[in-house]
Amino acid sequence: YSAKSSAQPLAFYDAAQDAHSPRRLMLMAELGNAIRQNELVLHYQPKVDLKTGHCVGCEALIRWQHPKLGQVPPFEFIPMAEMTEIIKPLSEWVLVKALEQTKEWHRKGIPMKVSINLSARNLVDYDFPLLVERHLKNNDFPAQSLEVEITESALISDPERSLQIIKRIHDLGVRFAIDDFGTGYSSMAYLKRLPLSTLKIDRTFVSDMLNDEQDEMIIKSTIGLAHSFGLNVVAEGVEDEETMQHLAHLNCEIAQGFYIAKPLPAATFEQWYIQHNKR
Ligand code: C2E
Ligand code: MG
Ligand code: MG
Ligand code: MG
Repeated sequence: YSAKSSAQPLAFYDAAQDAHSPRRLMLMAELGNAIRQNELVLHYQPKVDLKTGHCVGCEALIRWQHPKLGQVPPFEFIPMAEMTEIIKPLSEWVLVKALEQTKEWHRKGIPMKVSINLSARNLVDYDFPLLVERHLKNNDFPAQSLEVEITESALISDPERSLQIIKRIHDLGVRFAIDDFGTGYSSMAYLKRLPLSTLKIDRTFVSDMLNDEQDEMIIKSTIGLAHSFGLNVVAEGVEDEETMQHLAHLNCEIAQGFYIAKPLPAATFEQWYIQHNKR
C-alpha cells in the first residue's frame, strides 16, 4: 500500500494506520540507527528565477539510503518520525548537513541559498531556535541564506507557541516560507502574524493549471495576495515549459519542479548549477 499510488482521495489516507504496516514498523525501529550510521542523505532541488532563468536557491530534501531496501522516500518515514521524538534529531541532522553543504558551496564561490523543511514538533520545541543559533554560529553561516519551509498543518497543533518559536528563529535572520500553500486550514488572521518572506503554491494547483481554470484562478489570486503582503511566490511542481511560461506571465517570481531539475545529490546539483547559470 502506498499513499502516492493510491487512487483513493487523500482524506482516506491515515498515517497512523499506515504506520502499523510491517515495512513501516521496521523502518521506524531502524531510523535512529540510520541517522547515526549516516544512511540519510540530502538531495537538493533548484529554484529558478522566472525573469532571469538563474538558479537562486535550492530545497534540501531527505532520502534514506537503506542498506537492504535501497532509496526510501521521505513519505515512508517522515510522517512516522513526526509522531515520535525522533523528528528532533532528524531535523537537527538536516539542518547541520544543509548548512555544511551550503557553506562548502559558498567557499567555492557559489552564492547558494538553502531551504529546509521543519515539522510541527520542531515548531513547538523551545530548544530548536537555540539549535539553529548554535549551528549557524558553528558554520559561520549567513542566516539570510537559510530559509525554513513550514506547512500550514505544521502550525495547527499549537499556533501561539509555534508563532513564538518562528519569531525566535526569524530574529536570527532566517527567512520563512509557507509550503504547500492552499491545501491547509490556517486562517488569514493567523498567517498575517507570521514573519513570512515566501508563499510556495502547492503543486496540485500548478500541475494542472493549463487545463483547469479553477486551479489557474487559485494561482492568480494567491500571487495577488502574496504580492499585496510583500511576499515572493514560488510555484512547486513545474513539469513543462508551457506551465513555466505561464507562471512567468502571471508574475510568479520563482519556479521549482521536475521540468527544471529533480532533487539531485549534492555533487550532481553542483554540476547542474555551474552548467545552468552559465547560460
Ligand atoms: P515538500 O517540502 O512540499 O517537497 C516537494 C516535494 O515535491 C518533493 O518530494 C519533491 O521531490 C517533489 N517535487 C518537486 N518537483 C516536482 C514535480 O515537478 N512533480 C512532482 N510530481 N513532484 C515534484 P519528496 O522529496 O519526496 O518530499 C516529500 C515531502 O516530504 C516534502 O514535501 C516534505 O513535506 C517532506 N520532506 C522531505 N524532506 C524533508 C526533511 O528533511 N524534513 C522534513 N520534516 N520533511 C521533509
Ligand atoms: Mg518543502
Ligand atoms: Mg511543498
Ligand atoms: Mg508538498
